[in-house]
Amino acid sequence: MATAITIPTEPIGSIPRPADLIERIATSGSEDPSLEPLYEDAVRDTIERFEATGSPVVTDGEQRKYHNFATYCVHGLPNTAPDGFKIPFSDGHTRRLARLTSGPFRYRRYADCFLDLAIRYAHVPVKQAVISPSALSLMYTESIPDYSREQFIDDLLSEHETEIRRCLKKGAHKVQVDFTEGRLAVKIDPSGHLLNSFIDLNNLALSRFSAEDRKRIGVHTCPGNDFDSTHSADVDYAELLPSLFELKAGNFYIALAGEQDRRHALQIIRKYRKPEQRVFVGVTAPADPRIETPEEVRDRVIEASEYIPIEQLGTTDDCGFSPFSDDTSTSRDTAFAKIQARVLGTRLAERLIGGH
Ligand SMILES: [Zn+2]
Repeated sequence: MATAITIPTEPIGSIPRPADLIERIATSGSEDPSLEPLYEDAVRDTIERFEATGSPVVTDGEQRKYHNFATYCVHGLPNTAPDGFKIPFSDGHTRRLARLTSGPFRYRRYADCFLDLAIRYAHVPVKQAVISPSALSLMYTESIPDYSREQFIDDLLSEHETEIRRCLKKGAHKVQVDFTEGRLAVKIDPSGHLLNSFIDLNNLALSRFSAEDRKRIGVHTCPGNDFDSTHSADVDYAELLPSLFELKAGNFYIALAGEQDRRHALQIIRKYRKPEQRVFVGVTAPADPRIETPEEVRDRVIEASEYIPIEQLGTTDDCGFSPFSDDTSTSRDTAFAKIQARVLGTRLAERLIGGH
């Protein structure tokens, strides 16, 4: 007799913002109070359309994460300057983080403030993405008088821990730590030293949580996605994944659909994944304008199930659809069509693997 199986499927986070919201932010700034109704409409519409895809877990599409997935928590801090770390993308454009100019380091907002509104509109579980300590550690670029790097790291870890605890307490289905700089670290420093320092730092944070909490905490890795361009797609997963699985998290959201050689990546996942770690493989590629079919997604899930035990397998999108809020390269329609393909394709695979 066939047994019913369930393969969990979750989004990463961001959905392209409505064009009128992007325009209004460009003219009046992200915090103009008159934008409140627009933000609220964007979140309501995003969740409605998310649920219409059948996605069993949704996000608020990061409609209010201004300006991006990494700096939303520090955007507008008075003790920062705009000339921080540069992320170079393969098409030649760059994005820049803020630089800390003086201590102490404090978040300006925690991501659970986004959950409040999302949970009000959602009928299904909502997950919340937060930025990793390692990404924000790049804000401390040179020594700051009366504020040592050690003090900064202490403050950073404590702010990050507070943010995750607040999200867990408010009922986030999962809290996903965005770690796009992991793969980039290998590109910047092929020796692996920078990557390992990032892993150690993030593990200092993850160690503060119980085993039970860590079942609801995940880590996302990807080669970046901005204007359909990447920052580290040429880095071999063999250089990243062995270290990645050292992270003390219960869930891993790994970009796979856009990889040149998926089976190569899956072999490394099979070798280094720990028994308690669930792997959500990317089955749709947000940077590719073509919309996947449910059958293609199904085949990718079946392929992944040859390497990952079905009870430890999940599916996701390779990345958010617009991690930077002004990225208009993907339309909302395309994003939701891809999400629907992910959901339908995952269901097809469940039926095939479950044998009915
Ligand atoms: Zn990503």
